[in-house]
Amino acid sequence: MTATPSTESLVHDPNCIFCKIIAGKVPARVVYQDEEVFAFHDINPWAPVHFLLIPKRHIASMAHVGAEHAALLGRMLALVPQLALEQGCNPYPDGGYRLLCNTGREGGQEVQHLHFHVMGGPRPWARG
Ligand code: AMP
Ligand code: ZN
Repeated sequence: MTATPSTESLVHDPNCIFCKIIAGKVPARVVYQDEEVFAFHDINPWAPVHFLLIPKRHIASMAHVGAEHAALLGRMLALVPQLALEQGCNPYPDGGYRLLCNTGREGGQEVQHLHFHVMGGPRPWARG
């Protein structure tokens, strides 16, 4: 859409469900967004709090990350403590959360747009 097919990675992949969420074409419960980053509740939560933190530009997986993404990923990770508490995770150390990035088929990745799961809240959880 906004990039030519010859570029190494598309800014938006029209076939990607998370790009469609960012574009407002698929509904989601939004947690946070800024120019570069988007966060929304997971549709199938494992825990009382379960949201996904994603870059707005389409990066297919953690395996596609390089030095050029260091600032973006640093910003994403630095948002996690604030967003986790805002969404209802209890404070560290008795509370806390799980930060997870499934990568590739053997890593259990189902959606091919880089995402960090943030899961927390009182146990037991549905999974994990
Ligand atoms: P992964 O296995 O790490 O690729 O996880 C993908 C996650 O995306 C799963 O936890 C799904 O429940 C979640 N998911 C898939 N489609 C949607 C959607 N339309 N809205 C919110 N979460 C979604
Ligand atoms: Zn995408």
